Amino acid sequence: MAIFIVLQIINDSIWGPIELSPTSWKIINTPEFQRLRFIKQLGGCYFVYPGACHNRFEHSIGTAHLARTLGTELQKNQPELKITQEDIICLEVAGLCHDLGHGAFSHLFDLQFIQKARPGYEWEHEEASLKMLDRIFEIVSLDDLTKESQTFIKELIKKPKGSYEGRPKEKHFLYEVVANDVNKIDVDKWDYFSRDCHMLGLHHNFQCQRSIKIARVIEHGGERHISFPKSEYLNIFDMFSTRYTLHRQAYQHPANRVVQTMISDAFIKADRYLTFPPNKPKGKSGKTLSESIDDMDAYIWVTDDVFHRIRTLSEDNENVKQAKTILDRILSRDFYKIIGEKKVQFKGEKQKVYLKEKFQYSYGKKNKEQKVLREPIFNRCSA
Ligand SMILES: [Zn+2]
Repeated sequence: MAIFIVLQIINDSIWGPIELSPTSWKIINTPEFQRLRFIKQLGGCYFVYPGACHNRFEHSIGTAHLARTLGTELQKNQPELKITQEDIICLEVAGLCHDLGHGAFSHLFDLQFIQKARPGYEWEHEEASLKMLDRIFEIVSLDDLTKESQTFIKELIKKPKGSYEGRPKEKHFLYEVVANDVNKIDVDKWDYFSRDCHMLGLHHNFQCQRSIKIARVIEHGGERHISFPKSEYLNIFDMFSTRYTLHRQAYQHPANRVVQTMISDAFIKADRYLTFPPNKPKGKSGKTLSESIDDMDAYIWVTDDVFHRIRTLSEDNENVKQAKTILDRILSRDFYKIIGEKKVQFKGEKQKVYLKEKFQYSYGKKNKEQKVLREPIFNRCSA
């Protein structure tokens, strides 16, 4: 009797049928990964673009697919690079897990809420991604991956402070696949540019499938880098043009910025009145929203659901009342009004370019005199 192995295939709205390794399937079927179903890719943008309802879950699967595809193409076209199957699985898993640490409403949580709730505390969602990944490594047996490979996956997600240990120097070009610190051309952006445009109804000409086929690793300055032929420059130009369009029309859309600020304000006011995990008393077992980042047992509960949890709090103090009022105002589209805008130069920080914008909002209700001004807010130019 013939035995058939039934392959599990994901039908992705952007990339079509996707096949992933058994290791990735094991990771997808954990609560740590499933949590991403409940975190909007573009946070509050859903209140501006009705199509922006996609979540980190599908973006992570798409990124895993592109990471594996790029690794496989390089392996096929350049056997001299000695890319192994294990290397490709690591790329796929890193693509899958790179956003595990996002909090409620994605970047709103780390770039606005945590910065205000814990000023001076340096925290990036990638730190939580690594902690979540550690939990998954405990649940899922990764017999097919060596210790070096597990280190390699973590280094692909978050660049280590010291030197790379997961792979030797001749394979350092692999660190440019998921998060490219050299030129920002990586599979993470290829997925979210394509996915965001599709969901928002914006057009783009960039074709990453073409770039994947045409990419080659070449040596430059004694180091190997993933590169593209000169003839590909128009396609790459279109990629950065798409990024600009998305920032102008969606990520930095004034109404989106206002909604994100309002949600963040509500989180600040309700911070001490929510506990994670839910119903656990504050103290040893229960953390506040801003403390949740210190304890993954608490953080695993931090999803967009926080919005509705605030709305169900009992109104026995002024802060909770104000938090609920802000969220109610979002639902009745009574947004803060922008009464001023100023763009200023922001100097580079560790090779990252930031756009710093200063907005001032009114707390006033519709048609009332604007008296109270908000502190300036700052947003990073990335999504
Ligand atoms: Zn991502």
